Amino acid sequence: MPIRDPEKLQLALESNFKVKICRKCGSRNSWNAERCRRCKSRDLRPKRYKK
Ligand SMILES: [Zn+2]
Repeated sequence: MPIRDPEKLQLALESNFKVKICRKCGSRNSWNAERCRRCKSRDLRPKRYKK
């Protein structure tokens, strides 16, 4: 179901997609995180929103 409300879309972008995923253990970290909170790996990738 597509989101039509631009405000909700923006919210969804910020809350659901502005995260970093650890390449090692796959856990979600905050966008500002430099290290994984679970395994302390610095190998994080940003999860980007795809249209
Ligand atoms: Zn990790």
